[in-house]
Amino acid sequence: MNQSILVVGAGFSGAVIARELANNGHQVTICDARSNVGGNCHTERDKQSGVMVHRYGPHIFHTTDTEIWEYVSQFTTMKPYRHSVRTTVQSSVYSLPINLQTINQFFGKTFNSDEARAFLADQCEDFQAPQNFEQAALASIGRPLYEAFFRGYTIKQWGCDPTEIPAQVFARLPVRFNYDDRYFDHRLVGIPADGYTALIQNILDHPQIDLQLNTTCTAQDISDYDHCFWTGTIDSYFNFIHGRLGYRTLSFEMARKAGDWQGCAVMNYGDISAPYTRVTEHKHLAPWEDHNETVISIETSKACGPTDTPYYPTRKLSERDQLKSYVDMAKAAPNVTFAGRLGTYRYLNMDTCIRAAIDIVAAYCSAVTSGSPSPNFATDPL
Ligand SMILES: Cc1cc2nc3c(=O)[nH]c(=O)nc-3n(C[C@H](O)[C@H](O)[C@H](O)COP(=O)(O)OP(=O)(O)OC[C@H]3O[C@@H](n4cnc5c(N)ncnc54)[C@H](O)[C@@H]3O)c2cc1C
Repeated sequence: MNQSILVVGAGFSGAVIARELANNGHQVTICDARSNVGGNCHTERDKQSGVMVHRYGPHIFHTTDTEIWEYVSQFTTMKPYRHSVRTTVQSSVYSLPINLQTINQFFGKTFNSDEARAFLADQCEDFQAPQNFEQAALASIGRPLYEAFFRGYTIKQWGCDPTEIPAQVFARLPVRFNYDDRYFDHRLVGIPADGYTALIQNILDHPQIDLQLNTTCTAQDISDYDHCFWTGTIDSYFNFIHGRLGYRTLSFEMARKAGDWQGCAVMNYGDISAPYTRVTEHKHLAPWEDHNETVISIETSKACGPTDTPYYPTRKLSERDQLKSYVDMAKAAPNVTFAGRLGTYRYLNMDTCIRAAIDIVAAYCSAVTSGSPSPNFATDPL
């Protein structure tokens, strides 16, 4: 039975949901409050220099999921890309994530892998089950590296002490005892040749998809449809009845320069005394292009106010009960499925969003066919 479906949000999650629904014969209206598709992956060419700019921060597509790589490759040419990041700390430039180069340079040593491992093991503090980011870092790399590379950066990025951040956030960061300086060690790493916005426009190019930009939706709008997939913030759907969930927002100070500015795509600034977290030089995210000028964006992070763009869900330990209240309301709400990083209040990489979007539409279509209840969430928020 073909249905009329509203998809709120035309980022990666909403676009893939819309496309999969249309491929299954449903009629889809997709709305976005912004004047462009792509959500936070939005890219556009700087008019003067021609450089492709990642408006909401650098986005590198990385995955182990071959099907997802093939899925996006139907809509664009994926250019292989090698991402390596540098960090400026205590007046020196180091390689990130921490690897043998970083360790030897920081401690003024010439360790081999085993020596470095043993040296760091001596510095590590004993936390059997780390309860927060700081404990996880101290248990893994010891205090000197933690203080230099993570403490200041984390305070600037998250606006709180690292003891307030879940241990899992540190667990996501690799520590290597070799000279591999790739930021992502996934087999499939790339960037769409024409940027993410063109890719998402191609995903939405389907006769059964009606795209409406500059259109903000509320929970009231869903009554005209059989079902809604909501990729906006979950708390806004419920009109913030349990208060606002915490987010960090980012600001980007853009500048055009001649030639090459910093010699790499991303330079982090780890010292607490540096007012920004990182600088992105966008042309290094498209090394297959040639530009005489360059565009940089200087990134700072702060708490997200009611009119700011939400970027990173803070997911502080203290926010769990509030989130649970929204999840309970979502489970009781008829005809709506929450998806994407805002709808599930989770940090999700692009490949994870796409996989979740494909799977949730498959689950929805099978629920429609069998007459069983529709799923509430594409990804478990808790
Ligand atoms: C700085 C930064 C860097 C990142 N780098 C990477 C990376 O390198 N690799 C990677 O895999 N992932 C990266 N990510 C994650 C990536 O951005 C997300 O996976 C992706 O954007 C999620 O897509 P989404 O559609 O779920 O959400 P979004 O991109 O946020 O899209 C949601 C859309 O919904 C719209 N919307 C919200 N509410 C409403 C409403 N009420 N009515 C109408 N429209 C609404 C918004 O305008 C927005 O366009 C990064 C994230 C950030 C913040």
